Amino acid sequence: MVAATSEAAPADLFDKIISLSKRRGFVFPSSEIYGGLSSCWDYGPLGVELKNNVKAAWWRAMTQLRDDVVGLDASILMHPTVWHASGHVENFTDPLVDCRNCKQRFRLDQIPGAEVLEPGEPAPEGFVAGLACPNCGEHQLTSPRQFNLMFKTFMGPVEEDAATVFLRPETCQGIYVNFENVRVTTRRKLPFGVAQIGKAFRNEITPGNFIFRTREFEQMEQQFFCAPAEAEQWFQHWRKVRMEYYLGFGVAADRLRYRQHGKHELAHYAAAAEDIEYLFPFGWKEFEGIHNRTDYDLRRHSQFSGKDLSYFDETTRERYTPYIVETSAGCDRSLFVFLLDAYHEEPDKDETRVVMRFHPLLAPYKAAVLPLSKKPELAALSRSVHGQLRRFFPTDYDETQSIGRRYRRQDEIGTPWCVTVDFESLNDQAVTIRDRDTMLQERVPIPEVAGLLRSRLDALL
Ligand code: ATP
Repeated sequence: MVAATSEAAPADLFDKIISLSKRRGFVFPSSEIYGGLSSCWDYGPLGVELKNNVKAAWWRAMTQLRDDVVGLDASILMHPTVWHASGHVENFTDPLVDCRNCKQRFRLDQIPGAEVLEPGEPAPEGFVAGLACPNCGEHQLTSPRQFNLMFKTFMGPVEEDAATVFLRPETCQGIYVNFENVRVTTRRKLPFGVAQIGKAFRNEITPGNFIFRTREFEQMEQQFFCAPAEAEQWFQHWRKVRMEYYLGFGVAADRLRYRQHGKHELAHYAAAAEDIEYLFPFGWKEFEGIHNRTDYDLRRHSQFSGKDLSYFDETTRERYTPYIVETSAGCDRSLFVFLLDAYHEEPDKDETRVVMRFHPLLAPYKAAVLPLSKKPELAALSRSVHGQLRRFFPTDYDETQSIGRRYRRQDEIGTPWCVTVDFESLNDQAVTIRDRDTMLQERVPIPEVAGLLRSRLDALL
């Protein structure tokens, strides 16, 4: 495989993606007619197709193509003790600082200059005072307070402490508490993994950057249970596999990198952690994490539930609490990566052609059927071609405006193939297929179109 490298991204890429997303129906601000709700976004008709494809691709790679990973779909609301066992009630906090001058709130670790502070240590008096507010520039930041990021709600009609439940801040706890259920019902021996896609909620102090950091988001997580002695080897395996996954979907190699967590960044239970980062318009940022979580999770759930979650290894005749190597990807963040990375501008005659070069398996529509003219004699044949294609994959149908404009529209939403029905089609029963990336056109007999496009998609699987 030849790794793709990036062409220079336009300076205003971030704004262009937000505007294209809104204009073409990928992502809308939530509750927009009421003025929107901070950091909440809705996926429109094309966005939901893209998101479904992002999830399906991950699911296929992580479960269907592997012998050693199975799937799960656990509920969002879980027994409240889960979050005590996991450490979230005590520790899932961010240091919150207020600016006394402009009244804005920030996460201390996101303020430029705060990175020299060691996590877990209280900020020395005067240190925070030495930092400037990123909004107004004044030196009036308060000392940090720990703010728990979990959303609370009440289960049942009584709003009291005993009825408090949390919206899960990560999906993986649903996997840990089902470890025995999955192991026993699938009769698996270690090592094996469990994959899950689902919503997570975090009351982030500073959400923003479009769909990068939101309070409601989806995660695609896989937890790999293994012997303690093998955890490092599996960690190396998964970091490699996950990077190759993104390269395989054509993400530019020079916009991807690993970042190893420093000693002070590691969660107290983690033996190793590495992020896969993308060069977003606002800098290098994580969109997937690979973590060696040791035996912390199952040990804690054993303690708190009173159920023995240890494992007897028949080959080594040893009993141990399994180690977990996790791959944790954000669905919305990786979709954002695919959106940014797909965006290309090319000079074309006197215009600029905007083309979203999505990998065809991720593209919302695989094909668009475009009758050359709106004349009724072309409609029946065009509708029949559309009917043949849509049985196999999402196919758009567009008969408005000039053919050139319609090609542009399909380029802008990343449709890999446009199928044009013209007057000659009535005689030769053939259509023209135009390729999004090369813009080359080929004449193909109508009965062969569906098979040809399917075989091109199959070749990418
Ligand atoms: P960050 O440092 O950006 O807050 P994190 O290290 O807390 O992220 P994890 O807990 O490792 O993130 O979550 C795994 C993945 O879930 C992240 O790589 C990201 O893709 C996604 N994710 C986490 N928080 C959010 C959020 N608020 N909005 C969107 N995606 C998120």
